[in-house]
Amino acid sequence: MNWDDFAGWSKHIADWGAEYHKTLGDRPVRAQTKPGEIAAQLPASPPDQPEEMAAILQDFEDIVMPGMTHWQHPRFFAYFPANAAPPSMLAEQLVNTVAAQCMLWQTSPAATEVEGLMVDWMRQALGLADHFAGVIQDSASSASLSAVLTMRERATGFTGNREGMSGKGHLRVYCSDQVHSSIDRACWVSGIGQENLVKIPGTGARHGMDAEALDAAIKADIIAGHTPAGIIAITGGTGVGGCDDLSSIIKVAKAHDLYTHLDAAWAGSAMICPEIREEFWQDVDAFDSIVFNPHKWLGAQFDCSIQFLRDATPQLNTLKIEPEYLKTTGAAVTNYSEWTIPLGRRFRALKLWFLIRSYGLTGLQTRIRNHVQWAHELCEVIREIDGFEISTDPVLSLFSFRCPGDDAMQQRLVDAINDDGRIYLTQGAFQGRKIIRVQVGQFDTTRDDVMAVASVTQDIWESIK
Ligand code: PLP
Repeated sequence: MNWDDFAGWSKHIADWGAEYHKTLGDRPVRAQTKPGEIAAQLPASPPDQPEEMAAILQDFEDIVMPGMTHWQHPRFFAYFPANAAPPSMLAEQLVNTVAAQCMLWQTSPAATEVEGLMVDWMRQALGLADHFAGVIQDSASSASLSAVLTMRERATGFTGNREGMSGKGHLRVYCSDQVHSSIDRACWVSGIGQENLVKIPGTGARHGMDAEALDAAIKADIIAGHTPAGIIAITGGTGVGGCDDLSSIIKVAKAHDLYTHLDAAWAGSAMICPEIREEFWQDVDAFDSIVFNPHKWLGAQFDCSIQFLRDATPQLNTLKIEPEYLKTTGAAVTNYSEWTIPLGRRFRALKLWFLIRSYGLTGLQTRIRNHVQWAHELCEVIREIDGFEISTDPVLSLFSFRCPGDDAMQQRLVDAINDDGRIYLTQGAFQGRKIIRVQVGQFDTTRDDVMAVASVTQDIWESIK
């Protein structure tokens, strides 16, 4: 393909993209295909001869698109959102076109310097103290793994990487039972082990861990000869939006000199609203590490996860490795690959720059506030449906409910709703029972789209009960 052809096809794809987004609401939200159906339509072996772009794109439309679930659909209420606001998509197109690998400052100085600035813009937007520096990672899972590895190294006097973990006893990490599975996995792969991840039950209206129970667990571990390494708190757990009381957790951490990480992957975006921050983030500035995903609720196209660090040194001492081929000369610069596990890195900051400039913080705040308000309104309407119960009240824009019947009936309702395609919901579990989760957060959703959850649910329920 020559560059004139490239320009022509790029314009074609841009037009296709605009049309796709304009008519997205008419499509079923979740893909309606059966397992294997897409692969069965594609050749099992690669072509020997070159093919025309027109033919490739035609197959994309005819074969691939029917197998896509539409995450940018205004009636997507499943999981958490993966919003991609149009300006962030444009930035991604530029990043894809320049196609730089931004592992070191010198491999694209602008990528490093825009990243530093965007992390600081977001720090200010979230109202975090100016002692925080940060880095953009691919995902919250990677940021949490980086934090758990840092806990491990700090607790072993920075000998784990060098000596391995044998003979180092049981390092213990503490969290609530509402954390995301990425925390379990971080403990698996860091060599700490699932059995050394101590889960304190979430209690109260916000399902947070009880600081006294946390303190007692740490003291018991010390008596048993174990080594407490760190605490992971959450703001906005995946299941029902569990939130820890940060002030009480920080007191316990300080008393035992433990490293602290806060997973705010989803709810962190809402902290751009000062009144929400005030309610959820007391004493957040004392945390050592905080992760939030602008690629979830804020609108920066996946992937874009910011990890803020109160002091970057322990994480750099854990992850930085500098073979000769990665050394740079001249003035001291930031090489962000030294802060993370992967070496290669995309220019992720550009989409944040485009996003924030295009909407301003005010535009982004308005969306978050609408989502929270509409989720509360929807919750009250569902509460009134005959026989339905609210399982967990809204935490920001996430709540859950149950229809009449057992767990199997909850799953039947979720599956029937998603087979219908007008809205997309997912199930979860709370206190041993299946629940139906609703999160409101899609970038282009309207109040009408949100209220449709109640009418569609009732409609489908009538047809299956
Ligand atoms: N933490 C929480 C609270 C989440 O809800 C999720 C994903 O939904 C994650 C972490 C993992 O995020 P990522 O996909 O960026 O690794």
